[in-house]
Amino acid sequence: MNFTRAATRQPDAQDIEEFLYEKRQKIYPREVHGLFARLRVASVLTLLGLYYAVVWLQWDGRQALLWDLPARKFYVFGLVLWPQDFVYLTGMLVMASLSLFLFTALAGRLWCGYACPQTVWTETFLWIERMIEGDRQRQIRLDKQPWSLHKLRIKAAKHVLWIAFALFTGFTFVGYFTPIRELGSAIMALSMGPWETFWVLFYGFATYGNAGWLREQVCKYMCPYARFQSAMFDEDTLIVSYDERRGEPRGGRRRGVDPRGAGLGDCIDCGICVQVCPTGIDIRKGLQYECISCSACIDGCNSVMERMGYEPGLIRYTTQHSLEGRKTRVLRPRIFIYSGLLLAVAAIIALSIATRLPIALDVIRDRKQLFRETDEGLIENVYTLRVINMDKVTHEYGVAADGIEGLALILDTPRIAVDAGQIENVPVRLRADKASLRARSMPVTFTLNAIDNPALAIGEESRFLGPAP
Ligand code: SF4
Ligand code: SF4
Repeated sequence: MNFTRAATRQPDAQDIEEFLYEKRQKIYPREVHGLFARLRVASVLTLLGLYYAVVWLQWDGRQALLWDLPARKFYVFGLVLWPQDFVYLTGMLVMASLSLFLFTALAGRLWCGYACPQTVWTETFLWIERMIEGDRQRQIRLDKQPWSLHKLRIKAAKHVLWIAFALFTGFTFVGYFTPIRELGSAIMALSMGPWETFWVLFYGFATYGNAGWLREQVCKYMCPYARFQSAMFDEDTLIVSYDERRGEPRGGRRRGVDPRGAGLGDCIDCGICVQVCPTGIDIRKGLQYECISCSACIDGCNSVMERMGYEPGLIRYTTQHSLEGRKTRVLRPRIFIYSGLLLAVAAIIALSIATRLPIALDVIRDRKQLFRETDEGLIENVYTLRVINMDKVTHEYGVAADGIEGLALILDTPRIAVDAGQIENVPVRLRADKASLRARSMPVTFTLNAIDNPALAIGEESRFLGPAP
């Protein structure tokens, strides 16, 4: 709705509703060429290549990157992470967040413009659209045409390609959770499980919907990062900005006309910067939260400047301080804080992974009976030892227990053999003399050690229960 009507009368409830719930105007981003467009293509191809290729890599006879949910194991090349190791994943998420904070403080929304999955897949869907429907003008003309067999054929071809690409994306995504070779064979044999089928369709549908239909709406209304990233911005953060002092007053002129002589700035008001913008904004109105820093307007404007024989950079990557003629400070307190935290978390994670023992022990008390008295008058407690061999080789382990004077450990077998990457549940009993019990509940420690590697040892505490002393 155009609110200029309000100049002649007061807006009524319907006007306000129309204004607040304005129908979405479809954006037809014009294709752009230039340095940043090439960088964006390189970034999109690299990231998509990694996404679709890494899932096929093999390592030690298994998939190199696999989140095996049924087995609760996460394979990252040579590293196998167990549920006990999820602290590392938490640490890595903290690192990812800190990296994003640091990157945003330094480079603004470059992540959004070049590496965000929404941008990467939307760019790909736009390429497919241009390939089928033609450039911006042709797309606009086609959409204005009434439905015909010709229009139906073009639209159907585009959607078939979009859906095929989206489903392949969904298949690849599920391949990070179910070995992709098995998944591929299951698809060929039409024997895919219900969950895999659901997630392939769900992720495929999400890709098709977000990159094909919603596009800039995701960035504008759904992405939380767009909302809080301004908290990380300051006057020294890199932004895409129009140089108002140089560009204004804007206006059309013939090529070769001296703009200063004609009382004009360098902006010829051609609107190219708006036409190439994937979020449909006019950067000349200043920094807006919809701007994803994709730099399409920089390339678009630079090509205009070149045609007019002007210096490039009327729209450019710059900082608020630089626009005001002040010096940009790269190293500032928030950069030191984010970098320091990032380095500290990275160092802690690296150190703990380097010193991580590939062994774990859980002690589970028998819940059916607190304790029992044996025929010899000893107090007995029953436990199950859950021995987890997180190593790549089989180990035999010995077990010991202490904490009470004269404590006896009774085990069916003196050694516990556990294959690589396996878990063994072993029942054990502890017996102690009543006279040695100073309380109804006393701490005991189980120690597990690999026979072939004394460095591979772990202790786990539990309680020994008995009658009141
Ligand atoms: S204003 Fe420029 S940098 Fe920002 S989203 Fe639009 S084209 Fe990209
Ligand atoms: S592309 Fe450059 S010259 Fe054209 S309207 Fe935008 S800022 Fe002005």
